[in-house]
Amino acid sequence: MLVSAKEMLQKAKAGKYAVGQFNINNLEWTKAILQTAQECNSPVILGVSEGAGKYMTGYKTVVGMVKGMIEEMNITVPVALHLDHGSYEHAKKVIEAGFSSVMFDGSHYAIDENIEKTKEIIALANEKGISVEAEVGSIGGEEDGVVGAGEVADVAECKMIADLGVDMLAAGIGNIHGKYPENWAGLNFDVLAEISKATDPMPLVLHGGTGIPEDMIKKAISLGVSKINVNTECQLSFAAATRKYVEAGKDLEGKGFDPRKLLAPGAEAIKATVKEKMELFGSVNKA
Ligand SMILES: [Zn+2]
Repeated sequence: MLVSAKEMLQKAKAGKYAVGQFNINNLEWTKAILQTAQECNSPVILGVSEGAGKYMTGYKTVVGMVKGMIEEMNITVPVALHLDHGSYEHAKKVIEAGFSSVMFDGSHYAIDENIEKTKEIIALANEKGISVEAEVGSIGGEEDGVVGAGEVADVAECKMIADLGVDMLAAGIGNIHGKYPENWAGLNFDVLAEISKATDPMPLVLHGGTGIPEDMIKKAISLGVSKINVNTECQLSFAAATRKYVEAGKDLEGKGFDPRKLLAPGAEAIKATVKEKMELFGSVNKA
């Protein structure tokens, strides 16, 4: 079922686990993630960046594909289709196109403008029962060309944005997108605890889930993180499995060049990564 992320995240927050957001790029990605969610009986959030949306030819295509798969594959676990790091214009576009959840990332604006624009997006989304994620304190690293400075969010600003009526809040706590550098200082749990206390019972979102050590993930969940975004890790798994297939010369054997065969090991690798994350986040059997 395509649903808003609101209820699944409220349940996750109360139950002290997190729902994974896994970003999709194409049919294979989407199918692998939906299959795994169903097999694990776990709620799931499909993340779509603006770049991936464009790659898939537009948001209407994405909505059609996801809705079609949910029906054809008999997916019964809750599925949210969510815009990741949306600009103001694209947030409005996905609300029109039929997404069930949207992130408006106004973290690069001054706080007053972030508040004004977030308010407008909330009003538009509420009319259609779509959940809204906002961001305070830009999250570092690079995601589809958007480079953040890796700030630690201001607790008072988090409270201001949370009080607008968003359904989930992403706050920078030293996390970054992509691979973490060797000298990474780790998550700032003192700030996370303060944000969590100030915004309770707001579900908090941890971006840049790839490469954060398991004990830090678990501690973050215990401090109120209810949604964790995973993107790069599925890309790395897919690429490694595909490389292995080609380097073993499998594409040259028989009909090994058939895309349904060539892409199969990568899809299986995505499934394994997603399952591992769902187990770590504690969302298995929480559908
Ligand atoms: Zn992010």
